[in-house]
Amino acid sequence: MAFDELYQEIIRDHYKNPRNKRELSHLKAVENPSCGDSVKVLLDGDSQHIENVYFDGSGCSISMCSASMMSELLTGKTVPEAKQIVSQFLGVIRGEQPADSLDDLGDIAALKGVIELPVRVKCATLAWHAVEQALGDL
Ligand code: ZN
Repeated sequence: MAFDELYQEIIRDHYKNPRNKRELSHLKAVENPSCGDSVKVLLDGDSQHIENVYFDGSGCSISMCSASMMSELLTGKTVPEAKQIVSQFLGVIRGEQPADSLDDLGDIAALKGVIELPVRVKCATLAWHAVEQALGDL
């Protein structure tokens, strides 16, 4: 299977079977009006550790799969680790860091292709901006 096909498959899987998705009607959403995406993130833990990551939202496949992947990746991480991963991902998507640096981060590497699609960057980063806010509230 070609890498691109593998990545497409991973993206489809997270979109069809989102991880850690639950209703978070009490939270304010972070939105991407240009695509109609909306994401909410809830962190369960304390000021040092993230025990669970939940998201809620609707939108395109890139925004939803990015949220699902993010929730899986940050579950069980310490707060400094989570902050480092968030800045690494945002740095790569903005083209400030090499795309290959996502290769150690599991499924999220499937979003590397988004770097070449500037119009989708907001979709891919939405959940990550939501988690940045949630980290600030811990
Ligand atoms: Zn979108």
